[in-house]
Amino acid sequence: MHPRGSRQYRPATGDFGYYVDDPHATAHTREPLRDRVDAVVVGGGFGGLLAAARLRQAGLDRIRVIERGGDFGGTWYWNRYPGIHCDIESYVYLPLLEEVGYVPKWRYAPGEEIRQHARAIGRHFDLYADACFGTEVDGLRWDDAAGEWTVTTDRGDRIAARYVVVSGGPFGRPKLPGIPGIENFRGHTFHTSRWDYAYTGGGPDGDLHRLADKRVGLIGTGATAIQCVPHLAAAAGHLYVFQRTPSSVAERGNRPTDPGWSATLAPGWHHERRENFLAAVSGAPVDEDLVDDGWTAGGHLLGTLMPRVDHRPQGTSDEERDRQLELADFRAMNEIRARVDRIVADPATAEALKPWYRYACKRPTFSDSYLETFNRPNTTLVDTAGPGIEQLTERAVVVDGVPHEVDCVIFATGFDLTLPTADRTGFPIHGRAGRTLAEHWAAGPRTLHGFYSHGFPNLFHLGALQNASAVNFTHVLDEQALHIAEVVAEAAKRTDHRVEPTAEAEEGWQATLRERGVDHSAFHAECTPGYYNNEGRVRAGRRPSFGDGPIAFHRLIRRWRAEGGLRDVLAD
Ligand code: NAP
Repeated sequence: MHPRGSRQYRPATGDFGYYVDDPHATAHTREPLRDRVDAVVVGGGFGGLLAAARLRQAGLDRIRVIERGGDFGGTWYWNRYPGIHCDIESYVYLPLLEEVGYVPKWRYAPGEEIRQHARAIGRHFDLYADACFGTEVDGLRWDDAAGEWTVTTDRGDRIAARYVVVSGGPFGRPKLPGIPGIENFRGHTFHTSRWDYAYTGGGPDGDLHRLADKRVGLIGTGATAIQCVPHLAAAAGHLYVFQRTPSSVAERGNRPTDPGWSATLAPGWHHERRENFLAAVSGAPVDEDLVDDGWTAGGHLLGTLMPRVDHRPQGTSDEERDRQLELADFRAMNEIRARVDRIVADPATAEALKPWYRYACKRPTFSDSYLETFNRPNTTLVDTAGPGIEQLTERAVVVDGVPHEVDCVIFATGFDLTLPTADRTGFPIHGRAGRTLAEHWAAGPRTLHGFYSHGFPNLFHLGALQNASAVNFTHVLDEQALHIAEVVAEAAKRTDHRVEPTAEAEEGWQATLRERGVDHSAFHAECTPGYYNNEGRVRAGRRPSFGDGPIAFHRLIRRWRAEGGLRDVLAD
């Protein structure tokens, strides 16, 4: 474990602020906006797009998406590194496929196809006309007399909105490793989420021809590195991959979509496939595993994190269940390690590439070319065996006293998931009577179902907060967006359009979470450090979620809507 835990990283701010500059947009100026809309959606990734699309379907007219990037797409806008692909099957990951009338061209779609789908959603639901790109919200203030929010931005906008949905995903802000001497390196550097194609040449499909005479150092071996390493190795004079902890890398098996198969898809197919995938990765019994890939095969192992989502045979004790899960985990990880031996020729390199932790400790990855790359003569794995890189000098990356001279360092070191402020949005939110959300949440988030809080009318949160998450996060976001849109549609039938959970309903949900929440800290405490477990500094009970899992949560909110729950959030 790193002695500084999560504080080991350098935020991409101040002298390092240029690491987050937008390489895809041209700077533009515009007059500040002064107007009134039905809804502001903060964030133009799939969460924001889903919220906007579902609100449009619910009949809202003026919907303004405010997004820091220069277009829709969120993480798929920023991340355009070579090799970028969906690591979940695109037929379940890409949202609103039937609405837009699209079937992905690949089983695991390339990033550009996903980004274009985000744009197609923007066009289909007519979201471009009112969208504000290159703009960051810097505050929300509720005006109780007018019954609306005032939304202010870093471009001086002042927008009145009846409803606000906040959907800022976690993968927007890159983080840099806290390597001593990082400021001294004189070669070229960039972060994978802001790929510098002017330096490397080529594009997301590869052909990084300008690296032919370069020695490239890549730092990090998470899901991003797994996808870009084969392209770097194919182009670079020499590639050094600096590893702290190896990822688990299982088979991918990508293939183009069979047009014969797409032709058989009947209306409702997307919903059915997503539900089937969710059941399979939750370890629930399914008649037929429609996706049938590495995720569904390993899904029951993620059950370790969902002890209440339990499909054990009758009469099995808790201890027996845990023992069986642990054995299945060992078998799966043994197979992942055996795969390394089958592919990587050099025994020492193979040994270093083997992950020794439980399956759900780090994000599982899939690739049919990553491990193979280490058989290339121009690729060297520099394993730091845990502690990470010792130092950066003007020209070299130093590990264990050995300097490795490089022309360029690429940081595949992930994203800053530390939450910016107590209200978790990065900007202040003043609700009724000027009370801030940070004050209301001083002892931790307080919501009804994760969506809204007492004292903050017509404000909705999307994301993994006080509800239930899943591997296929766009599915979770869609259920949330549908819920919010249905609540808003009901509110529109009332005179004051106001949505606000009662204090009792909010407290009731806290009691449910206390009673039925799960605390993963015991599992994570035994994992190798990473962003899943706060770099090994596990805090018990910090992030309660609905312990019965996403399937039960989706059922719960549907039933709540159907059976009069709306009384808890609508005044008259
Ligand atoms: P990440 O998983 O956070 O990986 C960061 C890597 O940097 C880790 O290997 C880490 O090692 C390493 N690192 C950090 N500091 C270091 C140091 N001082 N010396 C050496 N190595 C250091 O980031 P990511 O790969 O960008 O992925 C982030 C998330 O994005 C994923 O978990 C996934 O959810 C998502 N993602 C999705 C896709 C997709 O296809 N859908 C693709 C890519 C990413 P340790 O493991 O030792 O900390």
